[in-house]
Amino acid sequence: MAIRLTAEILNMARHLRRKTRVLPPTLCLICRQSLRRGYSLCRDCEAELPWLGDTCGRCGEELTEPGTDICSRCRLDPPEFDSCYAPFAYRSPVDKLIVSYKFSADLASGYALSRILARIMAQRWRNGRRPDVLLPVPLHVSRLRQRGFNQALEIAKVVSAESGVPLRARGLRKSRPTPPQTEMRNARERGANIRSSFELGRYDTIGKARRIALVDDVVTTMSTVAELARMLKQAGAEQVEVCCLARAE
Ligand SMILES: [Zn+2]
Ligand SMILES: [Zn+2]
Repeated sequence: MAIRLTAEILNMARHLRRKTRVLPPTLCLICRQSLRRGYSLCRDCEAELPWLGDTCGRCGEELTEPGTDICSRCRLDPPEFDSCYAPFAYRSPVDKLIVSYKFSADLASGYALSRILARIMAQRWRNGRRPDVLLPVPLHVSRLRQRGFNQALEIAKVVSAESGVPLRARGLRKSRPTPPQTEMRNARERGANIRSSFELGRYDTIGKARRIALVDDVVTTMSTVAELARMLKQAGAEQVEVCCLARAE
């Protein structure tokens, strides 16, 4: 309890420092105009991003049927996690920003989108069920060496700083490398590809945490986050929500 309180106070102090410091000028990643905003997107370009409209309360995909809040697929076959939230569709220019973040280490792109996600999650959690802990979706060590950083961990750090929800960076481990889920032909292959490729971290990942938020960059097929949610619930989690920068169909 004392440790958790200390972590929350430290996060609040960090948050206040960020709010009060004089921001250095930067260039908008899209229109290249100069701005002082704490991240590199101007208000106009931010408003023009492919924001998702009404989304399914369960899987986070954009709803196509009017008058519903859960899509027909989730009504028939609900996923293992309780909810998934992404502010953006994985469309231009968000897809390009995420690709240059992940594959060219363009950290300003990742940071700008992370700040937007963090602001929204902090707001949602102030109004509702706040998670006890944030867990980033892990990369296998071979992929981590190749890329130099885990994009999900960097996003989770920003969300944790803004919301005050503690982060367990090593809470989950990718124990076996797997080919990208997008290379699999169907749900059965995706499930088989990902099954048993994750483990709980060496330390007590769950501890007293009952509500967990998984953090990732893009959720595409849902099989990765569904597998992690299944594992976490087996380990005692009551609620697993997913938050990510973008939702791809
Ligand atoms: Zn701009
Ligand atoms: Zn759904």
